[in-house]
Amino acid sequence: MAKGKEIWVSKFGGTSLANASQIAKVKDIVFADDRRKLVVVSAPGKEHKEDTKVTDLLLTCHKLVEQGKSYDEPFAIIRRRINEIASALGVGLDMDKELDDIYARLSQEKTADFAGSRGEYLNALMISEFFGATFVDAGQIIRLTEDGRVDEETYEIAEKVLKTIEGRIVLPGFYGTGPHGGIQTFSRGGSDITGAIAARSIGADIYENWTDVSGIYIADPRVAEKAGPVAKITYREIRELATIGASVFHEDAIAPVRKVGIPINVKNTNDPSAPGTMITSSRDSKKDHLVGVSGKKPYRRLVVEKFMLDRYPDAAKAIHGIIEQEKLVCDVVVDAFDTIVMYLATDMDDAGADELVKKITETVDVDICDMSEPLVLIGVVGEGMDLEPTLMERIATTISTLGFPLTVVSASLPIKRLFAVPIDAYAPVLNAIVDTIVSD
Ligand code: ASP
Repeated sequence: MAKGKEIWVSKFGGTSLANASQIAKVKDIVFADDRRKLVVVSAPGKEHKEDTKVTDLLLTCHKLVEQGKSYDEPFAIIRRRINEIASALGVGLDMDKELDDIYARLSQEKTADFAGSRGEYLNALMISEFFGATFVDAGQIIRLTEDGRVDEETYEIAEKVLKTIEGRIVLPGFYGTGPHGGIQTFSRGGSDITGAIAARSIGADIYENWTDVSGIYIADPRVAEKAGPVAKITYREIRELATIGASVFHEDAIAPVRKVGIPINVKNTNDPSAPGTMITSSRDSKKDHLVGVSGKKPYRRLVVEKFMLDRYPDAAKAIHGIIEQEKLVCDVVVDAFDTIVMYLATDMDDAGADELVKKITETVDVDICDMSEPLVLIGVVGEGMDLEPTLMERIATTISTLGFPLTVVSASLPIKRLFAVPIDAYAPVLNAIVDTIVSD
């Protein structure tokens, strides 16, 4: 590649690579612009709704190995899918030899990480051959820590290898080498992380993330029909949306590129001319104040009150201790003088809720201890939040018109407003908020 020319890293997800015709579409996209130098691929995903992803089939094989059972059945499906793709693409590689090798190693290596990684490996082999590109094994350049995160040394190792390669590169996503030398995978959906690492290592100008939707939507379009994609969103906004349940982008995939300011462009393989969404470090939030709304459920709100609670630190400690003992996850806590309010991420039933109240009141001398009905926490996010001083009022009016109770959880976070409504209010409330944001 000529010096000074832009480099793009393009990652394609499993549905974009589920069969040969999808892969042919991907080739057209890649070859339409020779800045697309490095392509990161997922394993073949679902071709039809009722299909199982190749990664899941491989993990099933591994489970059967562990149980000492035959894994011939799921493996036969993998073999069929890989052979179908290879023959439709006219790939000259001996895929049966590769598959035989994997079949044998599944029962020798007996690790879920090895099994899970092979879908990406096989897909990258076939796609590199189909593209006439160089295949680089992720095990050679991606390093993971014991707990499955990116090992910082990876960037240097990857840079050294990738920068010497002329022409296009195809790199399998999702896996690398762990601290003890074996194959290790990231968490599910982890090919996004590989793409981010590759983008940073090669010094990419853009990290393209190709999926089957035209970008990041203002809300889950399965719940709110009118929700469309946003043109620009910041890394910070993405993070805030993820904390309240939006599965917008693999969170760990943001860190590598955020650090060096490489923008991520989320695009749709089935609609390549759509601009998609740009994830950047900053955006003009004066124009679009808000970028998204999402909800997370189920929660229960625990309210404990004691007169002069602030004078009894042991009481507060005991309450927090019980929550810990019960292994309850508290996502939001408001400690204020005589009151502690906790939003517990739990699907406990009413009997469980009564039990917890009993435990607290029997242990600590409190005036009020109350658990709410199941709730959904809804967050509205945008860097232009300060320019929306009446937002919470508008939302409150909308929700009361719908006839649902609303509790404001936090109106003081920098770029997020957080409130809670009963579970059955989720869809109508989300739709009403989307209407408000879209019509602004
Ligand atoms: N194939 C892996 C999964 O299904 C990784 C990925 O697609 O990003 O989770």
